[in-house]
Amino acid sequence: MSDCRGQRWSLKDMTALVTGGTKGIGYAVVKELAAFGAIVHTCSRNEAELNQRVQEWKSMGLKVSGSVCDLKVRAQREKLMETVSSLFDGKLNILVNNAGMSIPKEATEFTMEDFSTIMTTNFESAYHLSQLAHPLLKASGNGNIVFISSVAGVIALPMCSIYASSKGAMNELTKNLACEWAKDKIRVNSVAPWIIRTPLVDNLEKDSTFLEQANRLILRTPIPRPGEPNEVSSVNNKFRKESIKAVTQLRVYTT
Ligand code: NDP
Repeated sequence: MSDCRGQRWSLKDMTALVTGGTKGIGYAVVKELAAFGAIVHTCSRNEAELNQRVQEWKSMGLKVSGSVCDLKVRAQREKLMETVSSLFDGKLNILVNNAGMSIPKEATEFTMEDFSTIMTTNFESAYHLSQLAHPLLKASGNGNIVFISSVAGVIALPMCSIYASSKGAMNELTKNLACEWAKDKIRVNSVAPWIIRTPLVDNLEKDSTFLEQANRLILRTPIPRPGEPNEVSSVNNKFRKESIKAVTQLRVYTT
């Protein structure tokens, strides 16, 4: 890892939970926080992949552990936070609500199951994990929540009405928690990326209509290419350098 990092600042001994750390943006966030010295726990549903990632990080000298958790299931979220509490002695400095998914469809085509899956994964789980983490974040005396939102939560985009609603709700939640929990010394922020090259986007682009629309949207951005996960993970860290603010900072990150 770049040596100048340690000269600027450090996350040594800070504790972090990053959801969905085995791929894409979450993977980059885990690596970024751990490289700055944080002790990180992450989760995903695929046990074999999770174990492989944890071994990779350990071989790089990073302090990362993981547990299998399907964030759609309330009881599994509770178990995850119990694990985190016991690993980190009841204190947590950083919660990154990253795990999320989308299904590309026109609004008239979405089913009840689609609605429930997207909203539960993207919004309900992030809300519930934040509630569960509150006592741990407060106990740390220096708590941070980062929601990985999306530009889709700010502007209208094709074929993602439920996904966009889940991210719009997340942006509102960011502002409300930032105001409610500032007194507990917990900062709450959203990072809202544009199109980032990850397995999520690779899967969405299997739909030819989505691919065609995404390509047109990318060409409209100032740098006409998808972003890379490490271009998002470094934004997470900027929050640590800034003074406590009672209101949210919504970062709309475009490439
Ligand atoms: P990926 O699909 O590449 O990675 C998602 C990660 O979350 C994986 O580790 C996955 O592991 C995990 N995950 C997904 N569902 C669950 C679940 N139910 N329980 C536990 N873990 C889960 O996604 P990205 O990296 O692209 O996206 C990360 C976040 O960034 C999402 O919130 C997304 O909405 C947001 N975002 C992404 C953009 C992009 O262009 N890529 C743009 C804007 C926002 P597993 O499947 O094994 O459980």
